[in-house]
Amino acid sequence: MSAFREALGGLQPERGEAGPAGRRWLYVPADQLTDHVGPLATEPPGELGIVLLETLWRPRPRVDHKQKLALALASLRHFAIEQARRGVAIRYEVGDAPYAELLEPVARELGGLRMMEAAEYEMRESLEPLVQSGLIEVLPNETWMTSRAQFVETFAESGRWRMDAFYRRVRRDSGILMESGKPVGGRFSFDPENRRRWSGEPPAPEPPRFPVDAIKREVTDLIDGSLGHHPGRLDPARLPATRADAETLWSWALEACLPCFGPFEDAMSVDSRNLFHTRVSALLNNGRLLARRLVEDVLALDIPIASQEGFIRQVMGWREFMRHVHAETDGFRRLPSHGQPNALGAREPLPPAYWGTPSGLFCLDRVVEDVWETGYGHHITRLMVLSNLATLLAVDPRELTDWFWVAYVDAYDWVVEPNVLGMGTFALGDLFMTKPYVSGAAYIHRMSDYCDSCRFSPKKDCPITDLYWDFLARHEKALEGNPRMAMPLRSLARQSGDRRKRDRATRLWAQRTLAEGRRLSPEERP
Ligand SMILES: Cc1cc2nc3c(=O)[nH]c(=O)nc-3n(C[C@H](O)[C@H](O)[C@H](O)COP(=O)(O)OP(=O)(O)OC[C@H]3O[C@@H](n4cnc5c(N)ncnc54)[C@H](O)[C@@H]3O)c2cc1C
Ligand code: SF4
Repeated sequence: MSAFREALGGLQPERGEAGPAGRRWLYVPADQLTDHVGPLATEPPGELGIVLLETLWRPRPRVDHKQKLALALASLRHFAIEQARRGVAIRYEVGDAPYAELLEPVARELGGLRMMEAAEYEMRESLEPLVQSGLIEVLPNETWMTSRAQFVETFAESGRWRMDAFYRRVRRDSGILMESGKPVGGRFSFDPENRRRWSGEPPAPEPPRFPVDAIKREVTDLIDGSLGHHPGRLDPARLPATRADAETLWSWALEACLPCFGPFEDAMSVDSRNLFHTRVSALLNNGRLLARRLVEDVLALDIPIASQEGFIRQVMGWREFMRHVHAETDGFRRLPSHGQPNALGAREPLPPAYWGTPSGLFCLDRVVEDVWETGYGHHITRLMVLSNLATLLAVDPRELTDWFWVAYVDAYDWVVEPNVLGMGTFALGDLFMTKPYVSGAAYIHRMSDYCDSCRFSPKKDCPITDLYWDFLARHEKALEGNPRMAMPLRSLARQSGDRRKRDRATRLWAQRTLAEGRRLSPEERP
């Protein structure tokens, strides 16, 4: 018998008074691993039972990063043990079928289930027939910090979804970082202060390692064995799968990251994968850490306002905003007057470089290597290297989204889709972003040390700069009238026809060479 089954078996209640039969049963999805909210927080454990589903089935088939799979399986198994220790009865189902198919017989047998509303559209859709037939009763999902009403009311008049308006509303409603109705420090956002390059000082903290126990070992053996074809490297010491691991990670983030979180938020470096970013996203997204608690802990810190506000804006602003956008559009299946999520008509395939074939562009190769090593990357590497380059190369945004979904440990539909389609690639047009996040080599050179190790020079021959100007030229008409694009479009207008031809030739060369899985080199550049 497996170590997990043996440990769980020893903790299960016997049949009888406290046995499974007399209990109220909940279904707990793998991304709601908390007993701080919902019925697990308020009802006596001895009266409750939970159903947990271990299934690799997904509506859109994906071959996830090994580290992502390992975190999901080890966290679910550890949660089962933790809840059994509290006296909750556990029904642990393993299968390879749609959620509804696995849950239906269990729900019938147990006389119906309750669950907090699923965060993922995929799961809500799959379980809808069971909800309709009364087998599942849906309760509010209390892991979120904000309500649908706050989102809808914020945009009732403008009809344009903008994170900063939503964030101001949530700050006012909650009173967080507010004094006498005014934002602490005189401004809602300190973003402009948070754009420093990092040159090694102060030293960036090393992320913690976590104890490797029998359950983690069992999961890693399973993945290395029958799931060995999944991509990415599996590191059992980097799996924050238990409640205690989650606390270790968050304590580290509070002490080592938060004091410098703000100033270096946009920096990138070969010397640190996370700099002062907290790495909490995977645990926020699977329920191990709750956003409300993180915000309270950060408010209690004596740190500069730029760092405090910067972090709170990410968690209470961006994260909540993204999930509302996704829910309001049913995951972009219903787009208000925007048609398909491919506003710029990008149709190129994702180059093999994203799967690890060297591209010759040091920034891209380094960030890709980091992702396959760890399943993690911070915001700016995702936005200004991976998405930026894919957008400049006119890569199909759906294909890029699916890649992010597979590659990152923290990816779930409600967060990966709006971030890649909306923010990263401008595939949703101005639905909720004011402009495409694109740049040439100058930005990467300013905010990172990547260019020091590259065969290209950011000031002389980096192809990313030509790709940027060619992008503007290709989309000049679509971007005309956008006030935030006025300056670059004025610069574009001053460029000669020859320069535009060269930029176009660079793009065609880069697209062709990368599609063939070959390296770009300064010698072959047009
Ligand atoms: C193209 C692209 C794809 C992304 N895909 C994902 C994804 O699949 N899953 C995911 O959780 N985040 C995603 N993000 C948002 C962000 O990059 C990550 O949340 C962050 O890098 C996680 O690292 P961290 O925990 O160290 O973050 P920190 O920098 O320490 O930030 C703290 C927390 O703020 C939240 N946050 C910050 N920005 C965002 C955002 N734009 N959307 C949602 N939450 C945010 C996260 O929960 C994060 O843990 C994506 C961003 C981009 C540009
Ligand atoms: S020179 Fe260009 S390709 Fe090389 S690291 Fe810098 S931005 Fe990236």
